[in-house]
Amino acid sequence: MSFRDFCRCASGEPSKKGVGSRRGLEAGGPQAMVYVGASARQNPFMSADLEESIARARALIEGARRIVVLTGAGISTDSGIADFRGPQGLWTKNPEAEKMANIRYYMTDPEVRKRSWQIKLAGAEQERRPNAGHYALLELEKRDQLHTLITQNVDGLHVEAGMNPDRVIEIHGTLREVVCMQCDQRAPMESALERVRAGESDPPCRSCGGILKSATISFGQGLVAEDLANSEVAAKECDLMFAIGTTLGVYPIAGVVPIAHECGGSVIILNAEATEMDRLADVNLRGSISEVLPRVVGGEG
Ligand SMILES: [Zn+2]
Repeated sequence: MSFRDFCRCASGEPSKKGVGSRRGLEAGGPQAMVYVGASARQNPFMSADLEESIARARALIEGARRIVVLTGAGISTDSGIADFRGPQGLWTKNPEAEKMANIRYYMTDPEVRKRSWQIKLAGAEQERRPNAGHYALLELEKRDQLHTLITQNVDGLHVEAGMNPDRVIEIHGTLREVVCMQCDQRAPMESALERVRAGESDPPCRSCGGILKSATISFGQGLVAEDLANSEVAAKECDLMFAIGTTLGVYPIAGVVPIAHECGGSVIILNAEATEMDRLADVNLRGSISEVLPRVVGGEG
């Protein structure tokens, strides 16, 4: 099994909540069916007893040597970040807002770009700090158990918490940088916002005059092939896949969970609500991520 199965289903784009999985089922053909059907094993640990689930998750983590973590918006909600930028976000539920997250409108309509910069400016005024969940994951790196951390989030909070950037794949890009759509040059987001504050409503690239955009993956843009390839390798090499704060409905990246499962890795899922892949998990944890995660990966019981 590889991402090709998922790419074929979802055209390589991040899908809207819930849509990706249905596409996978209806249009993906027999290979895509495997991960939702035939490979599912009975999960005896549905979180009727959270304490017992935490103990089981701790035991799995203690025995793992190559852990891959996949995080989604849920890990950042306790940092006060509304999930409006991502593929599952509020933008996508508001047609006008969705335009700003769609590469076609962004590239062709200066008004869309101006509004987008204003929203980013307003967002930058809000203080956003990593929370206990982000910090807890540092333990895995300190103990040399972390293979790779893949995040769907664009907030940069894993790296801000102190995670080694070399171990982090920001599969949907980052809001911390801007990129020129013409010459690919990157610059810090803050430098672009400073220009907006100074009166440029749609600041162009300083090198070539091209359109600047946050270095995030918009609707209509493909994921970075290298990031996707590295994620697939990580999923195949890991002995434990730990999905945190994602409903696992965003393809193709959610595919790392069934890939790890098929390759013999254990699976732990921590999320506030049920996910589309609970049946693949050895342990499902339901609860507050910033409360449960330190208990599961931290040194304290
Ligand atoms: Zn440029």
